[in-house]
Amino acid sequence: MTMEPVFRCIQCGHCCHGDVTVSVSVHEQEVMAEYLGISLDELHRDYLVQRDGYTGMKIVQGHCIFYGDDGLCRIHPVKPFHCRRWPLHPSILQDEQAWEAIRGDCPGFSREALWEDVCRLVKEAGYGDG
Ligand code: SF4
Ligand code: SF4
Repeated sequence: MTMEPVFRCIQCGHCCHGDVTVSVSVHEQEVMAEYLGISLDELHRDYLVQRDGYTGMKIVQGHCIFYGDDGLCRIHPVKPFHCRRWPLHPSILQDEQAWEAIRGDCPGFSREALWEDVCRLVKEAGYGDG
């Protein structure tokens, strides 16, 4: 019997849509600018925005500015840590309701996935410490 994986990203793009994005650290901004071949000033002017106490990516037409027409991330190799980690967020470990909320936002989880399975994935990925 083949076991369905607990999580497999189906590249639906849902997590790249919305009114806000994750934060981008200063180091991530530098790496991003280098990857795009532009200056930090240009990165800030064209792609980033200041939100309540953090720097995030601009939203264009309801999605992150780096979300491509092909449904893929245009900066995949250097995307921010919070994008790389999603949906294995450490809050999953705290209570089952956090897991249910995240599951409701991400169709990549197996329908049979149990909370303990996902907690194991979060820990194995090294995301258990916040
Ligand atoms: S919402 Fe989940 S399945 Fe969809 S792209 Fe994001 S991580 Fe992948
Ligand atoms: S950087 Fe890439 S993965 Fe992160 S929200 Fe933007 S398009 Fe999605």
